[in-house]
Amino acid sequence: MKITQIKAIPLVRSLPEPFLGGTYRITSRNTLVTEVHTDTGIVGQVFGGDEDKYQQEIAAVIETRLAPLLIGEDPRDVEKHWERMFRADPGLENRGLHTLDLANKAILMQAISAVDIALWDVIGKTFSTPVYKLLGGYRAKVPVIGIGGYYGKGKGDRELIAEMEGYRRDGLAGVKLKVGRADVQEDVRRVRIVREALGDDFVIACDANQAWTPEQAIRFARLAENLNVRWLEEPVQWYDQLRGLRLVRQKTAIPVVAGQGEISRFGCRDLILNEAVDILNVDVTLSGGITEWRRIAAMAGMFHIGMAHHEEPQVAIHLLASVPHALYVEIFPNPERDPMWFELPLRQPRIKDGFMEVPQTPGLGIDLNPEVIRKYVGTARAV
Ligand SMILES: [Mg+2]
Repeated sequence: MKITQIKAIPLVRSLPEPFLGGTYRITSRNTLVTEVHTDTGIVGQVFGGDEDKYQQEIAAVIETRLAPLLIGEDPRDVEKHWERMFRADPGLENRGLHTLDLANKAILMQAISAVDIALWDVIGKTFSTPVYKLLGGYRAKVPVIGIGGYYGKGKGDRELIAEMEGYRRDGLAGVKLKVGRADVQEDVRRVRIVREALGDDFVIACDANQAWTPEQAIRFARLAENLNVRWLEEPVQWYDQLRGLRLVRQKTAIPVVAGQGEISRFGCRDLILNEAVDILNVDVTLSGGITEWRRIAAMAGMFHIGMAHHEEPQVAIHLLASVPHALYVEIFPNPERDPMWFELPLRQPRIKDGFMEVPQTPGLGIDLNPEVIRKYVGTARAV
């Protein structure tokens, strides 16, 4: 069995309205479709990521730097391929160490991730087995939460509660609520009204998207301590992650989540060894694909760290179903926020009673709609 071709197809689509989180404003939903073709006729195909500025570069790295390493090789030798891609020339030409220090290594890691995930889809299809079973098959359904509670003009308490009630009607176990854009007291109040309106069995996690100083995060966590917050995600600013997250953990009781920006097992190792997290939400489309995610999950288990996952339910469902120390798969329940999730796969995994069922078809089980791919092939904003 041999790899014959690897394709990267960037998809770009504007959102009807911007979505506001703690530190950002989302105006588009982009993703990258990656295909690994083989001489048996089996094609691995996956979509993942939501890049803007660097989407074209990632696609170019896949087709011009990674594909030549893999064409003619057996797609099942995934550890060998991962190692070769990881050691690939990063494309800095004549630049020296200083440039390598400051280079955007996430471009290479996102390219490796995309190819690696598509290889696992090939392997699943080759053995007629869903990916989660190749990985160990711990459970056939995973609890699911929705990402929501965005800030918006004219969005008051009534609209916030109506949004949450809609999630419950959709069969979700709860919400990952945006915090960090309002002041701390106002954000605690928003969490409180959701808790009071939805009751104690509705899961509420809070995501600050790195909005706060450690002191602000500690204040939030203490004020929210009796509101049954499942976790507090990325509470502190990017430049103070290790010490800042550790301080929040030491001084408060709500479990701390981070890791979605890590691009390898080494960054995750440092979060764990610095006692900075209770749960990792590393993203398989950024951190080296399924091969690297398994290594990270194994390491996390040794330190009693749970595994969540940042978005990307089409792959995360298989990962979280494959290990015992996993938490919730997450989706954007609002089709205006994530139209790709609702339109790109030909079949949606079933969501019922707070759980998402793992697709039982071979590979990732997410055949993509060729019409939607054709419609949104495009070029994201240039760097
Ligand atoms: Mg997050």
